[in-house]
Amino acid sequence: MKIVFATGNVHKLQEINEISKGSGIEFVLPADGFAPVENGETFEENSLIKAREAARVSGMTALADDSGLCVEALGGAPGIHSARYAQTPQARIDKLLNVLRNEQNRKAKFVCSMTLVDKDGNILFQTRGECYGEIAYRQSGTNGFGYDPIFRVENTSRSMAEMSEEEKNEISHRGRALRKVLEFLK
Ligand code: IMP
Repeated sequence: MKIVFATGNVHKLQEINEISKGSGIEFVLPADGFAPVENGETFEENSLIKAREAARVSGMTALADDSGLCVEALGGAPGIHSARYAQTPQARIDKLLNVLRNEQNRKAKFVCSMTLVDKDGNILFQTRGECYGEIAYRQSGTNGFGYDPIFRVENTSRSMAEMSEEEKNEISHRGRALRKVLEFLK
């Protein structure tokens, strides 16, 4: 069964298909014209906006995710603004380390909301996956993307960027949310 995955990012699509291996479901990119306006105020609203836009342009069942990093001491920021917190991935890391330089409470979590809609945009299933950890004092590791080098995963001494792709998929917010979607689709 083919389902559209609401992204323009081929790397993300590969990651989703890797986690779904053996499920009988193949995720494919949306048709041309996919241009969601992510103006929701929550991860849930934004994943619904993306899923509806992917279903609209493709005329198929669609799944979308919306994710970000929430830091407890910052009241959940950067949250839904994670991708726009500063101009480049390195600038975003530097900004967060700087903002937290005198902060003892380093608790943080990655959040991923996933929404599955039918071809007409009706919600079939919505779920959330979370991954807990702490913001490290300095970056380490070169795997992954985004905030991975400064996110130390709970109960480990490693950053997300020091984990292999398989290890990350096991514990990541996206992996957790997607496995619930796959369970629903069974
Ligand atoms: P989006 O869900 O693709 O819009 O991603 C939002 C932003 O959250 C990304 O651009 C990253 O900055 C951050 N983010 C989401 N998931 C991860 C992750 O697994 N590792 C590191 N950063 C992430």
